[in-house]
Amino acid sequence: MTNLIQGRTGEWEVVIGLETHAHVIAEAKLFSAAATAFGAEPNTQVSLVDAAFPGMLPVINRHCVEQAVKTGLGIEAEINLVSVFDRKNYFYADLPAGYQISQYTKPIVGKGWITIDLPDGTTRDIGVTRLHLEQDAGKSLHDQHPTLTFVDLNRAGVALMEIVSEPDIRSAEEAGAYVRKLRSILRYLGTCDGNMEEGSLRCDCNVSVRRPGGKLGTRAEIKNVNSIRFVMQAIDYEARRQIVLIEDGGTVIQETRLYDAQRGETRPMRSKENDYDYRYFPDPDLLPLTLDAAWIERLKRELPELPDARKARFVSDFGLSPYDADVLVAEKSHAEFFEDVAKGRDAKLAANWVTGDLFGALNKLGLGIEASPVSAAALGELLDLIGDNTISGRIAKDVFAAMLETGKAAGAIVAERGLRQVTDTGEIEAAIDAVLAAHPDNVAQYRAGKDKLYGFFVGQVMKATQGKANPALVNELLRKKLAG
Ligand code: ADP
Ligand code: MG
Repeated sequence: MTNLIQGRTGEWEVVIGLETHAHVIAEAKLFSAAATAFGAEPNTQVSLVDAAFPGMLPVINRHCVEQAVKTGLGIEAEINLVSVFDRKNYFYADLPAGYQISQYTKPIVGKGWITIDLPDGTTRDIGVTRLHLEQDAGKSLHDQHPTLTFVDLNRAGVALMEIVSEPDIRSAEEAGAYVRKLRSILRYLGTCDGNMEEGSLRCDCNVSVRRPGGKLGTRAEIKNVNSIRFVMQAIDYEARRQIVLIEDGGTVIQETRLYDAQRGETRPMRSKENDYDYRYFPDPDLLPLTLDAAWIERLKRELPELPDARKARFVSDFGLSPYDADVLVAEKSHAEFFEDVAKGRDAKLAANWVTGDLFGALNKLGLGIEASPVSAAALGELLDLIGDNTISGRIAKDVFAAMLETGKAAGAIVAERGLRQVTDTGEIEAAIDAVLAAHPDNVAQYRAGKDKLYGFFVGQVMKATQGKANPALVNELLRKKLAG
């Protein structure tokens, strides 16, 4: 698989680095006790610290630190025992202090990596440069009044983890896989809900192009992209824009751009600030953050099983393909549902039913797996009926549809509707005899060598038995009878 893009003057390689902002799951803000729930009335979750009243002092929220360390451990990164909070100074209406408390030269988490899963079943490791803790800003509301801008400070001071990747990503597809995997890890860890529509996870996409293997090109940074689909679209658009620009004799300038999802294009927002514009300096109100190595060890021991480990286990213990395992582990709730269905049963059959029939149905109904009308236990019962030959796989599809509709158990539906598989050879033979008697011409043609007609006879016998005849028995008896 090549990721190169064919331009007018030759091939180009796309280079991408992502900066992801993840809201920390925590009841309170990073440096104040104000609440963090999403969707509250504007300015109802604002402490004096968040509003930057004079004389207020920040106090670090220990839980947020723990969440950042867990996340660092989840991406197998170095945890720094000493880190420093800095002030990043800039003026904006939704930033009452005039600075954001962030981390700059000494972040809490150093180098790690994220393994991405590609559609062809292979994986690739993408380096993570660092993870640091910082405050989110408030929100300017431009759509509340014709001439005024309102400010909502509920979000001001909420803890964010900024996770910065190395420029290791080589295509929009890989960028999508990176965000998907990162989100999955965060959700398994319970450190960020990963809800991109609510802004809990946002991506800045740094994009440049170069000749294959050449030196890095100048990048543009697309700010605040809030869905995986948009991340991929924005990168594709931006890469092509840069290629055309360079091929036409222009040069890419380092700037911040915005992705307009409606038009499917990026456009300039502002020229890029340099770090010195922010006049970073250590926040004098906060001591360096020092962590206890034993505490970190304990957190490490207590980490839950993460998606990569679970995927490996699904492949080795259940014999699933890497692709199926991927689909199932991406969401913790999906993986758990599958394990409940598969326990003590044919795991591949269980995987097919969960990823195929169940996901298809939930998709159609617009429901998440928590709200599935068919529970894991109920689906398991259906698989048991297939396993012990009470019903065929074909009839099971109808039973499943009825389960979705009525909420009844598989066994009850089979009994009520008389769907039990016919395994009585006498009954099946009678059906076959009737079919052969009704189609003498076809029988003659088949016997003269027209093998393709075999399927026709199977179909007729199934129809005559309302699909309930055991398919293996039908085959066995039909072959015998047709052989004459
Ligand atoms: P800043 O903090 O100014 O945004 P960084 O050097 O921290 O700059 O880089 C931010 C992001 O940009 C990182 O994810 C990094 O991988 C990515 N990046 C750096 N150089 C390039 C480049 N030439 N092309 C694409 N991405 C890049
Ligand atoms: Mg940046």
